Amino acid sequence: MQTTDRATAAYLGLAIGDALGATVEFMMPREIAAQFGTHDKLLGGGWLHLKPGQVTDDTTMSLALGNAILEQGKVDALAAAQAFDAWMRAKPVDIGNTVRRNLLQFRKTGIPEAPYSEHDAGNGAAMRVLPVALATFGQSEEAVRAACRAQAHVTHHSAFSDAACECLVFMVQDALRGARKNDLLHNHAHPLAAEYPAFKFRAVKQSANPSGYIADTVQAVFQSFFDTDDFQGCLIDVVNRGGDADTTGAIAGMLAGALYGLDEIPEIWLKKLDTDTSLSCAMQARMLIRLSGGLPEMRN
Ligand code: MN
Ligand code: MN
Repeated sequence: MQTTDRATAAYLGLAIGDALGATVEFMMPREIAAQFGTHDKLLGGGWLHLKPGQVTDDTTMSLALGNAILEQGKVDALAAAQAFDAWMRAKPVDIGNTVRRNLLQFRKTGIPEAPYSEHDAGNGAAMRVLPVALATFGQSEEAVRAACRAQAHVTHHSAFSDAACECLVFMVQDALRGARKNDLLHNHAHPLAAEYPAFKFRAVKQSANPSGYIADTVQAVFQSFFDTDDFQGCLIDVVNRGGDADTTGAIAGMLAGALYGLDEIPEIWLKKLDTDTSLSCAMQARMLIRLSGGLPEMRN
C-alpha cells in the first residue's frame, strides 16, 4: 500500500473520529448506551449541536496548522501560532481552555511558546499532531521531535503532552512505512508507559469516560487501538467510552487510518463526512507528505 494512501487515511480517520465522537462528547458510557445502543453513525448533534459529518477543533486546528506548514515549507512555531490565532478569531465551534488562554497570551506577547506548566497537560496539542507527522516523514528523530515541540508549545508546554505528541507522531510515521500493530505496541506504546507510568494502558482498569488530560486520553485510545482489529471497530470502541470522545475518536482515527489504510474506512462514514473537510484533509495529506521529501519513490 502506498504511503500517500495511508497518510490520506490518517487525515480522513482523524476527521471521521472527531465527527463520530462529537455526538457523544462528555457523555457517560451508560448514557450513550441508553440513547444509542452502540453509537456508530455520523449523526451530528451532541452538546455542540453539529450537523451530521461536521468536525470540531481537533480537525480544524489540524487543518489550520497544516496550512501554515505548507505556506512556510516547514513547521514553524510563529506561523503555527498566527494560524491558530486566526482560527480562534474565526469563532470555531469549540475551543479548549488551555488553547484559548495561551493564544490570548500569544496575542499580547507575540511569543509563540507558552510558559512551561505541569498543568497544561491536556490533549489539545496531541489532537493536532498529524500535519507534523506528515511534514517530517523520513526526517531525523531530532528534527521530528523539534517540530513536535514547536507546534505543541504554542499552547501546551508540558512534559506529558510532549511525550504523547512525540509518541503519536512516531507511531503514525512507522504505520505509514507499513509497520504492524504489534510493532507500534512494542516500539512506541509500551516504552511510553514504561517512561511515564501515567500512560499505562495494560493491566489497568478499562478506560471509561476519559477526560481531556493527555494520559487519560492516550490510555483510552491505546486500549481501543490495540484491542481491536479494524478501523471501524477501533473507532466505535473508543467513542462509546464517552468523555472527551471527539478527541479520543480523532487520535484513534488518525492511528487506525495510518495502520489500516484507505480501503478499510467504511464508505458510509466517508460519504457522511463534511465535503469541504474531506477535500481539505485529502489534499493536505498529499501535499504535506510530498513536502517531507520522505517518500522512497522521491529519493532517487
Ligand atoms: Mn473537539
Ligand atoms: Mn474534545
